[in-house]
Amino acid sequence: MRNLTQPVIFDGHNDVLLELYLAGGLTSVPDFLEGRDGAIDIPSAKTGGFGGGFFAVFVPSPKDLGVNFAEMTKPTYDLPLPVQIDWEDAFPVVMAQAAILFELEKQGAVVICRTAAQIKDALSKDKIAAVFHIEGAEAIDPDFHTLDVLHQAGLRSLGPVWSRPTLYGHGVPFRYPSDGDIGPGLTDHGVRLIRRCNELGVMVDLSHLNEAGFWDVARHSTKPLVATHSNAHAVCAHSRNLTDKQLAAIRESDGMVGLNFAVAFLRVDGKMLPDVPLEQMLKHLDHLIEHLGEDRVGFGSDYDGAIVPEALTSCAGLPELRHAMAKHGYNDALMSKLWHGNWLRVLEKTWGE
Ligand code: ZN
Repeated sequence: MRNLTQPVIFDGHNDVLLELYLAGGLTSVPDFLEGRDGAIDIPSAKTGGFGGGFFAVFVPSPKDLGVNFAEMTKPTYDLPLPVQIDWEDAFPVVMAQAAILFELEKQGAVVICRTAAQIKDALSKDKIAAVFHIEGAEAIDPDFHTLDVLHQAGLRSLGPVWSRPTLYGHGVPFRYPSDGDIGPGLTDHGVRLIRRCNELGVMVDLSHLNEAGFWDVARHSTKPLVATHSNAHAVCAHSRNLTDKQLAAIRESDGMVGLNFAVAFLRVDGKMLPDVPLEQMLKHLDHLIEHLGEDRVGFGSDYDGAIVPEALTSCAGLPELRHAMAKHGYNDALMSKLWHGNWLRVLEKTWGE
């Protein structure tokens, strides 16, 4: 009988730190260890073979200005983006969520990894490997003092924007159907930010950038182009997904894309509704592999941050996806690359160790 918790998954995006922050901060840490009402915790990770991934720190917009999932069940939609958040408001929230990540490590729930070798080591020892990532650079000051300190603290990945604008660039609104060519790209500060991230060895995440921003990063970054949680626009014509032209640029840079489980970016009709067969995910995977090659595709679940297919509501359900992929004809070597090998390869190349 095939061991369905293998190969273990290393995943490009989750929002569990945000959920723990909203659930009470440090006091909610025991829930992660013992089991919680959400997608990722230690018991579910063991059941599903979830070995870790990028743990995003994210500053939510005020509730009434946030993303409206109900609106995204309509046949077409174009959500207004929340307004920019000031540094003074963002910084304490980033500190609070980072403190949760450090507490998770202190409690033995995760290992914060700063190199690809550390991730490999954690995966082999059955420890959850966590990459400290920030989604949206609101808490980064333009002198980059916060960036330098956060890097020292373990930050290894940064998205210049989460869709709403920052000092550094303009993100892509949630619009269906649409391509991502909406609005201007990086600002001058944004170009400086890409250079500083390159120098420090902080990976730049392309997910949530609009097309102009994507091409600005492609022009200025010296590292592989990476979209941690984005899908194929040819399969689902959502503004958040990547066109074949963008995929070609990612391939050329030897970067990669993590498949997002969020149903609105998977479904042909772009609706945020969870009755999605796993075959729909395989359509995206097939397309991504065709355009990027077998070495440049992985996963970026968006767990605890999105509505995902019914079979995968918690990471305990990942064996279902492994099963569907094996049935679809993906061999063991390809499975290992998709589940974690490609992330290790690209991160080693990006971080230099
Ligand atoms: Zn996201």
